Amino acid sequence: MTEIIQTNLNGDTLRRNLILITVDCLRGDRINYQGGYESITPRMDEMSKNGASFTKSFSVAPFTLSSMKSIFTSTYPLMNDGNLSLTKEMISFVEILNNYGYSTAGYHSNPWLTKLHNYNKGFDYFMDGIIADGKESNRLNIISKFLLSLNKKNPIRQVASFLHGYFEGTQFPYVRANKINEMAFEWLSNVSDSNFFIWMHYMDTHEPHLPINKYSPKISKRKLYDLNKNMGSVNPKLDDDDLEKLIGLYNAETRYVDEAIGAIYNFLKYNNLINNTYVIITADHGQQFMEHGQLGHGLYLYDELIHVPLIIIGPGIGEIKINEVISLIDLAPTILDLLGFDTTNSFKGKSLKPLLYSNEIIPTLTISEEARSERKMPLNGKLDFSQKKISLRTNKWKYIYNETKKHELYNLETDKYEKNNLIDLENEIANELLTKVLNHINNLSTSSKINFEKNNIRKKVRNCRKNIKSKKY
Ligand SMILES: [Zn+2]
Repeated sequence: MTEIIQTNLNGDTLRRNLILITVDCLRGDRINYQGGYESITPRMDEMSKNGASFTKSFSVAPFTLSSMKSIFTSTYPLMNDGNLSLTKEMISFVEILNNYGYSTAGYHSNPWLTKLHNYNKGFDYFMDGIIADGKESNRLNIISKFLLSLNKKNPIRQVASFLHGYFEGTQFPYVRANKINEMAFEWLSNVSDSNFFIWMHYMDTHEPHLPINKYSPKISKRKLYDLNKNMGSVNPKLDDDDLEKLIGLYNAETRYVDEAIGAIYNFLKYNNLINNTYVIITADHGQQFMEHGQLGHGLYLYDELIHVPLIIIGPGIGEIKINEVISLIDLAPTILDLLGFDTTNSFKGKSLKPLLYSNEIIPTLTISEEARSERKMPLNGKLDFSQKKISLRTNKWKYIYNETKKHELYNLETDKYEKNNLIDLENEIANELLTKVLNHINNLSTSSKINFEKNNIRKKVRNCRKNIKSKKY
């Protein structure tokens, strides 16, 4: 347990507070402190100068549910039977904080992260509505039920479908970051006498890309609709000019999110909370802009999808740029450690606190996982083990294990965009990394209830090694 640093007016001892900000789809390379992009994040850059900024932090999955499950519970997506919900048995760090008396609140509008999937575990207050006040619209439900009852070829349904698509393509369907801030600030104003944890999840950088600030490129509504229509299509075809426009929209949204994060920082300073509060900024995953032929996010494990920002500021953390490769699997144990609580056995990550305070390197495996079919996008609540992809990221290499296709190996030092698959050329390193991935798969099956491959794991290791030797991958 860590030291207790102050007391409230009643003489009760207080620990430190924590705010976790996750930005949906925010790529790691958009943050200027990483040195990889033009400066579009002045506030985050400034905050990174007051704390720790990570240049090689990776999410555990390329889409929301798996990634956030891992952030909350420090488990891998393929554990717990690949369940995409937080199950009863899974322990979230929020529950632990809440059990220790922290006031806890969550604010977001991502339709996957709802109470239906138990993402409210441990929260005293949880706003998960896609409508600003968190309430579903009955009127809209009745209309959509009526439309769904019509045959697909019915002209009324077809017109409604086009209008719905146009509406979705030109109206932002989530709660804007400034509204999330407003609600969270109001809640914060009422808990100033007790310890708090707040999770704020912004959707502004998620598609449809519809920025509302002055940095938005001047584009007609019709063009906005057409551009955003590409985001949902498989193998989209768009020219360089359209791609540049889409990236311009995304960058404008990134600037908007940066301003909202700056507003949180200002709120903490203005309310004298900054000296007793940790702030963590990260993302659930990145976003693809045709680097590997796709737009959006979900199925692949390339860096544009798993490289995410990570900034941690708080009491006693000086300016430190950390270039070690780290995984967001470590976030939950780090949060507990920073606030002075012991970690739990179910957490698979390790605390990054020693790295933050004394630059002590923590040996870690940076693994990311995905397991859904490219053809069957609708989720059935569980990942499909027969479709699994598992990446292992080191400073220099990326190995991607693929259950259904050829494995991949990239040298990130000479090929940062992962274009040149070296799996047939670099046998030794491929073998070494594959062994680690297979050990990880073995650990997954023994440390959770899943039994996939448990019985034939040895055979699988032998086969994979044989295949690498004969260059089958
Ligand atoms: Zn997401």
